[in-house]
Amino acid sequence: MSTLRFKALEASLSRTPRAVEAPSEKISDYYGINVFDNKAMAEFMPKDLFKSVQESIEKGNRIERGLMNHVAAAMKGWAMEKKVTHYTHWFQPLTGTTAEKHDAFFEPLNDNNVIERFDGSQLAQQEPDASSLPSGGIRNTFEARGYTAWDPSSPAFIIGKLLCIPTIYISYTGEALDYKTPLLKSLHAVDAAAVDVCQYFDKKVNKVNATLGWEQEYFLVDKALFAARPDLALTGRTVFGHSPAKGQELSDHYFGSIPDRAHAYMNELEIECMKLGIPVKTRHNEVAPNQFECAPIFEEANLAVDHNQLLMDIMDKVARKHNFRVLLHEKPFANINGSGKHNNWSLSTNTGVNLLSPGKNPKSNLRFLTFLVNTIKAVYDNEKLLRACIATAGNEHRLGGHEAPPAIMSVFIGSELTKMLDTLVSKVKDDKALTAEEKTQLKLSIGKIPEILLDNTDRNRTSPFAFTGNKFEFRAVGSASNCSSAMTVLNAIVAKQLKTFKKDVDKLIESGSKKDDAILRVLKKYTTASKNIRFEGNGYSEEWVKEAANRGLSHLKTTPDALGELGSKQAVKLYEELGVMTERETLARQEIAYDLYANLIRIEARIMGDLAENHILPSTYKYQNQLIQNVQGLKDILTAAEFKDAASVQLEMVKDISKHAKVVKETVYAMVEERKRINKLESAQKRAKEYCDVIKPMFDKIRYSVDKLELLVDDEVWPLPKYREMLFNH
Ligand code: ADP
Ligand code: MG
Repeated sequence: MSTLRFKALEASLSRTPRAVEAPSEKISDYYGINVFDNKAMAEFMPKDLFKSVQESIEKGNRIERGLMNHVAAAMKGWAMEKKVTHYTHWFQPLTGTTAEKHDAFFEPLNDNNVIERFDGSQLAQQEPDASSLPSGGIRNTFEARGYTAWDPSSPAFIIGKLLCIPTIYISYTGEALDYKTPLLKSLHAVDAAAVDVCQYFDKKVNKVNATLGWEQEYFLVDKALFAARPDLALTGRTVFGHSPAKGQELSDHYFGSIPDRAHAYMNELEIECMKLGIPVKTRHNEVAPNQFECAPIFEEANLAVDHNQLLMDIMDKVARKHNFRVLLHEKPFANINGSGKHNNWSLSTNTGVNLLSPGKNPKSNLRFLTFLVNTIKAVYDNEKLLRACIATAGNEHRLGGHEAPPAIMSVFIGSELTKMLDTLVSKVKDDKALTAEEKTQLKLSIGKIPEILLDNTDRNRTSPFAFTGNKFEFRAVGSASNCSSAMTVLNAIVAKQLKTFKKDVDKLIESGSKKDDAILRVLKKYTTASKNIRFEGNGYSEEWVKEAANRGLSHLKTTPDALGELGSKQAVKLYEELGVMTERETLARQEIAYDLYANLIRIEARIMGDLAENHILPSTYKYQNQLIQNVQGLKDILTAAEFKDAASVQLEMVKDISKHAKVVKETVYAMVEERKRINKLESAQKRAKEYCDVIKPMFDKIRYSVDKLELLVDDEVWPLPKYREMLFNH
């Protein structure tokens, strides 16, 4: 084993878990202590003012400047009691969430901004010097300023001695430059549309929140091994590495007992999360070795997104303390499962009702059907956009890889609900009202929905979008992604769909239908129209790929192809109609996504070239020289006949090594030439496409030969930590 590898492995194996005590035995003693929540605000503000702030936040109204000063004073008072010295506006620019960029969420402070000078105007708005953050051409040099503005719907929190204020980030001209702005607008759109539809069932509903419960998958790798893998350090994934003798085939890691070191890490992570009011609840081993998952109790979607962003950052920080590095990349290791982030989504009302959960009476069951069917229809009409919003360079390795959902969008609802929808379609008539008897019959089967769902056990893990009892689970989101992209699309498409539903139902009511009849008729129409998106079978199978094509569903395999849909006419219109984004904002976002993709592949290409030429090939030649010396020596001491027999294997190896080394060297060279050409292309879309179509196949070629060399070359001289070393020691 090479000295470097040996040292790294030795360091890793000699570590003991870092045990950390919780501040108190009772979680409730420290839950949320670092959050400026309602309790804290109430404590530091006059009662009447606190009430008006709450009211404004609930209604989404602007908070007056005078009131803002009071909030700022309260926030400052609270924070200073906790020894906070600085504050920052905390925002989510469109950088993507690679590890190196995480720190950008926390704007560095200059010393003039010490906390002692903090009032409404500092709370409300800042102009961070962030001119190198991506804007997709929106922020030209003459209007280079970007502003952050307070998001009162997500509470401020403390990290170390820093008060972090969640904010949106917009350009001088008011265009969104972040994830949060369109998310908030989409939440507003789905709120308005869902409230309107809820009026058919309950007049008391005046607010609908989208809810999100994410499940975060990740890998842990020892810090020393991580440091000895420049590819992991720079790109978050291993670009080389032969599969170990043992992979995940024994499924002995999945839900197994959590190794001590990982356990100690999770423990501290959870303590830190609890202090920040992130309600992490479950944790377990995942399928791949050294892969884990954590999930919170669901929350209002904007808060849940902030909490996930915060979590990813805390994960990184806590992991370092434990001499681990956390990998959030979607595919850190080839041939074993990658990581995703399931997004559990639903809608809930101010009256405490989950709209994707059936109730106790026929009316609430019809309401449930309404939201179920409308969501399915929304997914059917916008499957391409849903595919596009999860398209990243990392996720490309996972989708369709028989471990994560395919790149084809479909909806799973289970056989019993499918039967229910079939009944709806067969019983409801298009042109005339139901007779009393027919109505009773239909009500009877709709009344069975709660029982059906209790027994909704035939879960299909291969579906990208599955109904799981009281929520939809969007499973194709990448582990490193900001959930906002997926949530903005989901909220927007459902908002638009609910608006259409309202129009369709009202039209029937105006022409004389009873309300329930009208609702049922429209639901029938949507159910039939969106039938093709429903799929209950094995999403990983070849047959599904064929069947989906027959059904007219799209299959956008590559990220650049999928990104094309981000700026489609349909997407532009959708966002414009709902006030989520202007055309310029939508297209800028697409441009940024293309650019990010091209840049990430370019970085991978560079690191591949570097590792191949400066690490792999020199070690390879060293070993090859040993073989040659051996052959030479045999020649000296043996007869010609003896030599032929004795040296044949070594000679084969010498040739094999040369063959693979040649492929590596030549392909790396060709790749550099291609990159030079591609980098000159003006259009980000073209660059992304060429990196995907031309450069990525070269990765496969180089990797194949390097991984063969790993098998051929003496373990003693191989420079990079191997898969078995990174994955099978805790
Ligand atoms: P799994 O999918 O791993 O079996 P569960 O089905 O128990 O796990 O739920 C996973 C996630 O679903 C949790 O994060 C939970 O908070 C979330 N969840 C449950 N109900 C809702 C809801 N109404 N809206 C959004 N998320 C929800
Ligand atoms: Mg799940």
